[in-house]
Amino acid sequence: MNIKRLLENISDMARQHKDRGKVADYIPELARIDPAQFGISVCLANGEQHSAGDAATPFSIQSISKVFSLALALGRLGDSLWNHVGREPSGYAFDSIVQLEYEKGIPRNPFINAGAIVVTDAILAGSTPAETLGELLRFIRVAADDEDIHINDRVALSEKATGARNTALAHFMRSFGNLRNEIDLTLGTYFHQCAIEMNCAQLARSGRFLMNAEGSIIPRLISSARIRRINALMLTCGHYNGSGDFAFRVGLPGKSGVGGGILVIAPMRASIAVWSPGLNSYGNSKLGTEAMEIFAQKTGWSVFG
Ligand code: GLN
Repeated sequence: MNIKRLLENISDMARQHKDRGKVADYIPELARIDPAQFGISVCLANGEQHSAGDAATPFSIQSISKVFSLALALGRLGDSLWNHVGREPSGYAFDSIVQLEYEKGIPRNPFINAGAIVVTDAILAGSTPAETLGELLRFIRVAADDEDIHINDRVALSEKATGARNTALAHFMRSFGNLRNEIDLTLGTYFHQCAIEMNCAQLARSGRFLMNAEGSIIPRLISSARIRRINALMLTCGHYNGSGDFAFRVGLPGKSGVGGGILVIAPMRASIAVWSPGLNSYGNSKLGTEAMEIFAQKTGWSVFG
């Protein structure tokens, strides 16, 4: 299998695609992004990396940051994290509030917004937002083996300015006693973590630890048991109410963000990052999903055999 050629073919196809989805417009800074972009990068377990298209263009990783905050939270709290957040797919949009009342302020999973706010609140406990964000950035930089990964403050402030929905989710959870810190601090940390920027090449490298590849050269940042659990959550919840569709079409664990990025893990084989800013109706990258569907078909990689 010539991965480099496959990525170039996929990138050429994506470039010609007319129907590119719609960029997220509820965060004004993201509404300005040109949808005519596509990048893809793959890190293999043997250390090779191949990229195509706009793989060096930085983008807002948004909800993909939730994979790293979850890894950090599990390191800090261990299984007690699960007293505050569930592990079931939600079947509702990423920013939905409806289940929260029935389920007494315990969000369905750590990847919907409410769940990710709880995870951020957990890693913030006992530290300042600056320390917490510093720790998260350090984790990502080590994982990616790249110091040049930063937060875009304009995106964070833009999201804060229009963050009524996330603020509502946080107050609602607070009323059930499921947030420990001041809401402004938790949300400020959450908005800044979502505003981390990476390009596809960096994002693919940052996901290598999730391949769980035996005897590989990749640093082991968390235990194998935790890696398997994070992959399980990415498969069942990583694309919100589009998670079933992604599992059906791609068959690999993935985490999307409204910036149009997707981090996909082929366990033991590869970490893949794809980016195209236009989104489908679930808020996941439209061309990114289509590209991963072709990639999985051509490589034959799947967690389902
Ligand atoms: N920062 C975004 C939000 O909270 C993340 C959502 C996403 O990427 N799906 O709305």
